[in-house]
Amino acid sequence: MQGLEEQEPTVRIRALKKDRVNFVLENVNLAFANSVRRVVMADIPTVAIDIVEIETNTTVLPDEFIAHRLGMIPLISTNCDEAIRYTRDCVCLAGCDFCTVRLLLHVACQDHTTMDVTSNHLEVLPPDTRGGFSEETEAPDNGEEISKRSEYFGHPVGKNDLKLPPVLICKIRKGQELRIRCIAKKGIAKEHAKWSPCSAISFEYDPHNKLRHTTYWFENDIRTEWPLSENAKEEEPERDDELFDYNAQPTKFYFEVETDGSLGPQEVVMKGLAELQTKLANLILGLKTQPELDMMANDEQATNGNIAENTWGTNAGGGGGTNASSGGGWTSSAWGGGTSPRGSGWGGGTSPRGAWGGTSPNRRNAWNATSPGGGGSGSGWGTGASAGWGSPDGQANGWTV
Ligand SMILES: [Zn+2]
Repeated sequence: MQGLEEQEPTVRIRALKKDRVNFVLENVNLAFANSVRRVVMADIPTVAIDIVEIETNTTVLPDEFIAHRLGMIPLISTNCDEAIRYTRDCVCLAGCDFCTVRLLLHVACQDHTTMDVTSNHLEVLPPDTRGGFSEETEAPDNGEEISKRSEYFGHPVGKNDLKLPPVLICKIRKGQELRIRCIAKKGIAKEHAKWSPCSAISFEYDPHNKLRHTTYWFENDIRTEWPLSENAKEEEPERDDELFDYNAQPTKFYFEVETDGSLGPQEVVMKGLAELQTKLANLILGLKTQPELDMMANDEQATNGNIAENTWGTNAGGGGGTNASSGGGWTSSAWGGGTSPRGSGWGGGTSPRGAWGGTSPNRRNAWNATSPGGGGSGSGWGTGASAGWGSPDGQANGWTV
């Protein structure tokens, strides 16, 4: 078996739909595949309702029950890195237009039939309007976030799509009423599961169980009692005379990512990888000694403060840091986009800035250490024609659907 270090990781997309992607990740180890899964599950920021002011609730459900259900409604969170800040990073006192999205829910039933209150009844207030919220502070006027929001940013998923059924909040009868003000904030699922962009993410490896990582219980015949998964077609079955290879390692992983609609599957996977890069870069930075950090600072000064352009990596291909003075310890074979003959690297191949890059000119370290969302504009998940998701079947950009 060829060593992992000799083969570049490849991604082959098998199916891509509006809310899910199925892909095969090869030539990485089990720890990496699981890291991707964990990061996608828990570390990608979205917006979700976080504060609820209940003015009227004459329904049968108690206030906290409804507040919880409102929090779990997925809201469209495209480009969350740039379109909204964390409230904790904002200069406002108690939430402003740059760090929150305000929603109103006002439903009263006048009919004799039971009425469904759904996510379609939630109305998003435009950023510059006030909806009678109890704590309102003036927005500091130095942000660009609002201009970077898409048209339906913060709207409940499916509100503008007749084909998608809305999320049921509660049912009311004649005379009952709900009047609620909601404040949605940016967050990650490590804090609360309502911020997870994924409803499910899983991977399978070794479908024939050649590695014996699983022990199947059976009565008579293991092959008839444990049907093989679809992924088994991708690999050779075990021969009866094959000896058990106790040194074998899994290298091929069959991923299935399903989102709740707040982010698309492409954004989820690409941001997950960028987030993983950021975490590893922070780890490397944390392991550096003070003399090494001083040396990095000197290098940055030598480039006249233009550090975001080229501190990591000698080419424009992303995070493959081959610059010895930056000492990042990465080799371009693992991460650098652009250099792979099949275009199968991780980095956004055409980004003029490094895949670690942020844009702040006064940053001291080369990677964006403070933003949980990964690099700034021009980082990893490039939208260029040769963004690094080339699939082996020759399609330049595997996401074109
Ligand atoms: Zn704010």
